[in-house]
Amino acid sequence: MPSRFRTRVILVVLLSLLLDGCQAVEPQGDPMDEIAESFVKLVLALGQHDADYVDAYFGPEEWQLEARESALALDEIRNRAVSALEALQSSGPERDEDLAAARRLFMSKSLESLIARVDLLSGVAMTFDQESAALYDAVAPTLSAEHFQGVLDKLDDRLPGEGSILERFDAFRQSFVIPPESLDAVFQAAIEACRQETRKYIDLPPGESFTVEYVTDKSWSGYNWYKGGYQSLIQVNTDLPIYIDRALDLACHEGYPGHHVYNLLLEREMVNELGWMEFTIYPLFSPRSFLAEGTANFGIDVAFPSGKRLELEETVLFPLAGLDPQRVREYYEVQDLTKELGFAGNEAARGYLDGEMDAEEAVEWLTTYSMMSRARAEQRLRFIEQYRSYVINYNLGQRVVGQYIESLGGTPDRPEERWRLFSDLISRPAVASELE
Ligand SMILES: [Zn+2]
Repeated sequence: MPSRFRTRVILVVLLSLLLDGCQAVEPQGDPMDEIAESFVKLVLALGQHDADYVDAYFGPEEWQLEARESALALDEIRNRAVSALEALQSSGPERDEDLAAARRLFMSKSLESLIARVDLLSGVAMTFDQESAALYDAVAPTLSAEHFQGVLDKLDDRLPGEGSILERFDAFRQSFVIPPESLDAVFQAAIEACRQETRKYIDLPPGESFTVEYVTDKSWSGYNWYKGGYQSLIQVNTDLPIYIDRALDLACHEGYPGHHVYNLLLEREMVNELGWMEFTIYPLFSPRSFLAEGTANFGIDVAFPSGKRLELEETVLFPLAGLDPQRVREYYEVQDLTKELGFAGNEAARGYLDGEMDAEEAVEWLTTYSMMSRARAEQRLRFIEQYRSYVINYNLGQRVVGQYIESLGGTPDRPEERWRLFSDLISRPAVASELE
């Protein structure tokens, strides 16, 4: 618990004792703070049923112990969440400032999402779109095979030769794999570059840092585990070949200005400055993930817009990886053509989870329209089985966050404004539907 918050609790207790003595009206705690505390405890309780649910927690240890000991049943968690939501709805806004209103909306969506997660774990059936709306406050567009075929046709023209597009794409990319022995050096350089770029625009707290670990046998390619106190552990999965674009993508996405910065800014601004305890916990299947993944992906482009990225790749990352820096532009030209294919993953997930595709058909869809190798498509199917409609947070999140920031004037030609809006968005409560 941050020391500031503890001091405040003691002051409130002392004040209430004094006022009692004077027969004055008892001071009432902010109902939002009570609801926030209930919320944290409910997320911890649900974490007892769902190992993936609590992504980060750095609040009071006794709340964690309490959740473990009381081991609330799912229906009890649901009842308490419904009560907290009713308390929130009946408490009415005390202040109508932007930040207080944003807090209320965030809490309301977060409680609704928690209730939906309980329902899913209790066996309630939801379609893919119902689930993403309930958990993340967003629904991804449905895109046809023809839509993706249009993208593939452009790629087809760009990669002439023998074999299927996937075979040609794979052959092309063979020259851009980071050799395992260079992996750490390339990542460390990418992280340093992202950090330096971010520090120009965001005041990072002294002592913030993260450690990188290389792991295997995971359904994801990278993961940020936020530890609190401005520290993260970032894990990189080395099961499959890592292409050079992943170095900067992962460094920005997991680190700067992505997840690591997002988490530490919320800790500093919401928990340490305001004592808003709901930000001591991060439930993975919640509206916060739409913002987390959307800003982490869009953040790559904020920190390294095209020209700046190409320069870093040419002068630092390609040489460190022992790759030919003369081929940077060629590589990114092809990469850019594949961007839209991120949305094809949503269709595989939607089809598979809605029962319209079996596992083999989903893998086939991913190899055809997401241009994934068979091994990567199978890894992605494991991800879909584990995280379900979470997949929309990456591509739709990135698009919605990008459009929001650009609509407010944070266009690529105005980097200062782009960074200011980005930094503001990752320092406060926000949900998907308010960005649209
Ligand atoms: Zn992420």
